[in-house]
Amino acid sequence: MIKVFIAPRRYVQGVGVLSDIGKYIAPLGKRALVVWGPVVSEAFGEPVAKSLKEHGVELISFRFSGECDRGQVKLGVEKTKAEQADVVIGLGGGKAIDLAKAVAMAVGARMASVPTIASNDAPTSAATVYYSEDGNFEGWDIWPVNPDLVLVDTQVIVNAPVRWLVSGMGDGLCTWYEAEAAFKGRRTALAGGVATMAALNLAKLCGDTLLEYGVDAKRDCELHVVTPAVEKVIEANTLLSGLGFESAGVAAAHAIGNGLTVLEAAKPYTHGERVAFGLVTQLCLDDDILPDERLDVVDFMVDVGLPVTLAEVGIGDIKPEELMHLAELFCAPGQITHNHVFTVTPFDLYSAMVAADALGHSRKALAG
Ligand SMILES: [Zn+2]
Repeated sequence: MIKVFIAPRRYVQGVGVLSDIGKYIAPLGKRALVVWGPVVSEAFGEPVAKSLKEHGVELISFRFSGECDRGQVKLGVEKTKAEQADVVIGLGGGKAIDLAKAVAMAVGARMASVPTIASNDAPTSAATVYYSEDGNFEGWDIWPVNPDLVLVDTQVIVNAPVRWLVSGMGDGLCTWYEAEAAFKGRRTALAGGVATMAALNLAKLCGDTLLEYGVDAKRDCELHVVTPAVEKVIEANTLLSGLGFESAGVAAAHAIGNGLTVLEAAKPYTHGERVAFGLVTQLCLDDDILPDERLDVVDFMVDVGLPVTLAEVGIGDIKPEELMHLAELFCAPGQITHNHVFTVTPFDLYSAMVAADALGHSRKALAG
């Protein structure tokens, strides 16, 4: 049994570190292709350009479409080659970062993740998740190396809408339950081996940190202040979740969350929100989860405003036969649903989604 643990080479987190980006990029390269969208380049272009210049790094801007699709990768690669960039920076959300990884890998450049939101665990991981031009999940690539640098400015993160931080909690909360599920069958994680003790413990720490500090962090983020709770939750959403999911394993929650993108109505929701409903389903599918633990997790999700019902991921009026069809998709051969140690049939998954929706409604009603 081969165990594999992978991680970024450097992780930097704190207030104001974005204004010092040049200091961290300069050791990686002298010509930096920055992958960002128009809103992000407008908001952060000036301090980033200033700091890079101070440290002798040339900024080459690449404004992407907002989607991480293969056409955008091709354009990014062409620009990187034409400009002879030696480092690629993904600055913004998970899609800018994943695109930057794919471009850097294609040309052999160094890579830096600079998230402006803490909505998912893309920044630390070696994976690029692809979507079609119209936003359907299309699978992923696992690169042989992780980002050279992950730079997280916590003041930038709390200045963004709180929905992103909460979405990251949804993604991060899945990490432990999926890691535990995958490890029971000693499944191979995305990193290419079975989970190490390190990966399992980081995944557990991720879940525990969110349950303990998530509610406080959400309140503080709404006030745009960086507190110890906010710092811990950002680290959980970004670093712990990334290391945990990638080196310990994934299971039904992500199969459901990713798969929901086939429905137009579910597309406006974030990755973290979709996998959150996936987690409620997974907790109703896996009878190793004790009832009290299931309730604690769902109640936490209700407290921070994560989706716990079908309606909260846009598909409250889905017909039973449509839900069954989804369950069949999520259970197709090769799906990560089969990382569970027990057999998962479409009927099991259908039943768990119905049960999850009912549980979500009942806990929301109790919370008032
Ligand atoms: Zn995820």
